[in-house]
Amino acid sequence: MMGLEGLRMEIHGTVQGVGFRPWVYTTALEEGVSGRVWNNGEGVFIEAFGPGERLRAFVERLRSSAPPPAFVQDLELRAMAYEAVERFEIVSSVLSAARRVSIPPDLATCGDCLREVLAPEDRRFRYPFANCTRCGPRFTIVRDLPYDRPLTTMASFRMCAACQEEYDSPEDRRFHAQPNACPGCGPTLELVDASGAPVHCQDPLEAVALALREGKIVAIKGLGGFHLACDAASAEAVGELRCRKRRPAKPFATMVESLEHAGRIAVLSREECRLLTSPRAPIVLVRRRTGSRLAKNLAPGNPLVGIFLPYTPLHHLLLRLVRRPLVMTSGNLSRRPICRANGEALTELQGIADLFLLHDRKIETRCDDSVLRVMAGRPVVFRRARGFVPSPIELPFRLERPILACGAQMKNAFCVGVGELAYLGPHVGDLDDMATLESYEEAVGHLEHLLGVKPDLIAHDLHPGYTSTRVARERPGRKIAIQHHHAHVASCMAEHGLQGPVIGVAFDGTGHGTDGTAWGGEFLWADYGSFTRVATFRPIPLPGGDVAIRQPWRIAAALLYEAFGAQLSWVKYSLFRQVDPAQLKFVGRMLERRFQTPLVRGVGRLFDGVAALCLARPLASFEGELALAWNFVADVSEEASYPLAPDREMDPWVLDYRPMIRAVVEDLDGGESAEKISAKFHNALIAAIVGVIRSMVARKGARPIVLTGGCFQNELLVERVSQALGSAHEVFFPEQIPPGDGGLALGQLAVAHAVIQESGN
Ligand code: ZN
Ligand code: ZN
Ligand code: FE
Repeated sequence: MMGLEGLRMEIHGTVQGVGFRPWVYTTALEEGVSGRVWNNGEGVFIEAFGPGERLRAFVERLRSSAPPPAFVQDLELRAMAYEAVERFEIVSSVLSAARRVSIPPDLATCGDCLREVLAPEDRRFRYPFANCTRCGPRFTIVRDLPYDRPLTTMASFRMCAACQEEYDSPEDRRFHAQPNACPGCGPTLELVDASGAPVHCQDPLEAVALALREGKIVAIKGLGGFHLACDAASAEAVGELRCRKRRPAKPFATMVESLEHAGRIAVLSREECRLLTSPRAPIVLVRRRTGSRLAKNLAPGNPLVGIFLPYTPLHHLLLRLVRRPLVMTSGNLSRRPICRANGEALTELQGIADLFLLHDRKIETRCDDSVLRVMAGRPVVFRRARGFVPSPIELPFRLERPILACGAQMKNAFCVGVGELAYLGPHVGDLDDMATLESYEEAVGHLEHLLGVKPDLIAHDLHPGYTSTRVARERPGRKIAIQHHHAHVASCMAEHGLQGPVIGVAFDGTGHGTDGTAWGGEFLWADYGSFTRVATFRPIPLPGGDVAIRQPWRIAAALLYEAFGAQLSWVKYSLFRQVDPAQLKFVGRMLERRFQTPLVRGVGRLFDGVAALCLARPLASFEGELALAWNFVADVSEEASYPLAPDREMDPWVLDYRPMIRAVVEDLDGGESAEKISAKFHNALIAAIVGVIRSMVARKGARPIVLTGGCFQNELLVERVSQALGSAHEVFFPEQIPPGDGGLALGQLAVAHAVIQESGN
């Protein structure tokens, strides 16, 4: 008889809640191996016994052929004494002190579950909460590890005999599907009116569908929070939602029944189709078809539209009943976190929603919809939340101690790093509201708990006024302040596994510089530990400071003042005729006397100011509204450009925008169209970026080039700069993590690690 052996294995990766153990079980049966498998907080453990060659075949299959979405990141092996057990079995989970999160993100309804929900003979026919090991809620219902039903918000639902049988049968698709449920034993829907009183109806979904067709606004509880829904084809309904939500212009995302329906309202590339139908089911920003049935005020002046497909059975059923695209926007008040509890929604969304579609499965962790856009042929995450969190990003280095990176002020997401993995938390939003701050601290605490760490190394932005900086300061431990644009560049480096040095181009609205002024158009020679600032932009005086972000006419005035001095007659431009003359005069005086005019170098502000002037739009209802519009009007066939060259006598080199502004004004006075001026403006920026990069290469040799910061959500910039640099240069931009401040925390973490390494402790 061949030698009988024993092996103990520890497997890490995405191995919990994805049908991994049943697969191990069947593989063991097929290979004739006995033993056991169990989950714990760290991953999956296996003890296997049998003839040596059988065991090796078994291990090989575990390593190489786990069925997606399961993913084996590493498998550690240790010999152990042979045990004469007869069977292979799945044993209950054992809690372990050290943890590594292997919970997958929430996954969109799979094809099998959808078929069941739509099949009249199935016991889950029209059941809004059907799920299996391949789909359903995960991260949003987990209270603690290991990922087992008693430690999720499904704990309060006792499985019926039929569900329990599925749950216990290794051959079943629902074997150990923790949120397993059916109409007999699982969560149920409840429809209430604006006062919270139950609405009596046969079927809440049908009642909601009817209300939506009538133009009503309905708050709908989903996977990671509430949505506010209305008919996306009705300008009246959309207008009413805008008015009630006090959101005049910011685009709304739209959910459509199927990919086919998506194709009717937008032009979709193969990559965009793949993203829409992936189990992550993100919102994808795609080009709207002209003459689509979508209401014009859904995304005013915006050729793109954010589309996503149903990702829970509830969505599928509702969309099939409504038979039209639905606005599905985050259910929150402006600047506050997305509502997650029934009571919270009833209070906060009172006055916005006419009806509330509730259910009794609690949401443990808020998780907004993720947003992606395909740029230069690659998917780029603009907002990283549902479907992505808590999947870690592999770091190109190993952390000796866990690190918490606190992120930025706006579009905040934090990051916790352990070992070689960085866990970016869900998108939290702008931290200037108390409720958002509470939500932020709770999310940090929850992720730390799941990871079993309490980092005493805290990375934060250099800006002393950021709320995230204050949070960092209040925590015990060593604090490391990281320059904003260095973090942007390091974030992209870490994502792509670059060691540096790199040539980093970080363009955004604003970020605190090492000299105490606001930066935002930076060319850095950077590695993780340090950076040299090679070039920047001439600063713009911002009359009234941050007020100017919502009143870009002030920036336009500043640009004209800088370019021409006070002589120019502003009122000849239709932009300034829309501004209160007294205010205009006051701003003129501010610029003359240089009071309350902080200097900013943000390229985003340059976009805002030129756009305001040429589009004759004085105000922005959200940050970057005009910059976005300016990008969209560009006539891509225009090849001419404006002067924008660096002054290399200065250190750092300074790109002076004044000659460009003079040329813009000359064009404007000559009656040139906004489309042409915008194109020439973009061309000037592209040429300037390429020119500075070439000079940096000439001085210090070729290095990978990193394009990052919020301005690089502009497809034209990303594509043209990549093209112009050609194959002679390696160009990287953020893909898995947002280019804007939502991706900042990963870079803070990477820099903090390097700083600690270099300081020798
Ligand atoms: Zn399923
Ligand atoms: Zn049941
Ligand atoms: Fe930034």
